[in-house]
Amino acid sequence: MNTQSMPASNSTPIGSAVIGFGGMGSWHVRKQCEMKEYFAFQGTYDIREERREAAEKAGYRAYPSLGALLSDPAIEFVVVATPNDTHLELVLAALAAGKHVMCEKPVAMNPEEYECMVECAERNHRVFTVHQNRRGDGDYLTMKKIFDENKLGPVFQIESRVQGSRGVPGDWRNQKVHGGGMVLDWGIHLLDQILMMTLPRKLTSVYAQLTNVTGTDCDDGFRTMLTFDDGLTAYVEVTTSNFITLPRWYMLGENGSAVIHGWDKKGEIVEVSDWENRDAVPVVAGVGLTKTMAPRTDDTIQHYPLPDVKGNWDLNYLGVYDCVRNGGKLVVSYDQERRLLALIQAIFTSGHTGEAVRFDDVWAASC
Ligand code: NAD
Repeated sequence: MNTQSMPASNSTPIGSAVIGFGGMGSWHVRKQCEMKEYFAFQGTYDIREERREAAEKAGYRAYPSLGALLSDPAIEFVVVATPNDTHLELVLAALAAGKHVMCEKPVAMNPEEYECMVECAERNHRVFTVHQNRRGDGDYLTMKKIFDENKLGPVFQIESRVQGSRGVPGDWRNQKVHGGGMVLDWGIHLLDQILMMTLPRKLTSVYAQLTNVTGTDCDDGFRTMLTFDDGLTAYVEVTTSNFITLPRWYMLGENGSAVIHGWDKKGEIVEVSDWENRDAVPVVAGVGLTKTMAPRTDDTIQHYPLPDVKGNWDLNYLGVYDCVRNGGKLVVSYDQERRLLALIQAIFTSGHTGEAVRFDDVWAASC
């Protein structure tokens, strides 16, 4: 299924539920209620009584226990939206109870946990997928279109950043034991986008630095340089102590550059219209003069607006519907997720050793 297509909804909606009624769980509850044509939301379960009460106060059914939710035959499909270290146990329990499952990112703390989940899904013949929702972000889809349509000529560098200034939130997200840290939080989204955008290239090497400016138990950010088999490089950065931010996206091709500054998708494309016209009037640069670094004048470049690509945050849900009712293909395939989790491992390895890691990309061809 591509980003714009909608599966036919000519059969009954899928009975659905959400485990975990926190920040993201309540988003999923609202999403399932909103997509009535596809999903019939039944209720939610949270381990904390106050969150079950909050769900009831908001007008939703709160199951008193995990067992009560999983044994309800009206529920065919469950979303797991709990802290990262609880995903394995909850995904296995839901699959074993015969439910189709979509788990929040990062689906697992490591590749071994993920293989356990996949094995369980296959054994129980259930649909199992991951909520990689930022594949539907408008800024990403805009950059992907520019890349796919070769608007800048051969692209040699992509930069993707998110930068905050408040450190890591002071809950489970800054505790290693719960799968905290920015690599697993924002990193997994940005890395998934880059891996999908650059297919069918193979990733060949990974160099990373983990940051810890705020002194938390786990990383509060990271920077990584990814190199692909045709020489393309991607720089991905998530940091949390930035009081001045750099652009969200920056892409360099042989004939042009593109930028998206922030979430409002403001930016532009600049293309060179006369590459041979390289002569320039020298400009003063510090204590010297430079022609090399003199900015281009408007007679040799053209400015273009960015293509207007809308975001699609229903993509993962529509994909689940298509799989369960129409036997469609997973939007987030097992090999795509295996490749992403292997990259996360490589980032931690490089971050801890200070050395680049060779990446044996056995998945690119099947992604
Ligand atoms: P949160 O702390 O706001 O909510 C987690 C909820 O899970 C809490 O209410 C907690 O009581 C409950 N919980 C904990 N253990 C449980 C268990 N065993 N059974 C039932 N409930 C349990 O966290 P959050 O921000 O909602 O994050 C939840 C998950 O969603 C994480 O995996 C996170 O990475 C992911 N997330 C994804 C996105 C996205 O854009 N895809 C955005 C935010 C969070």
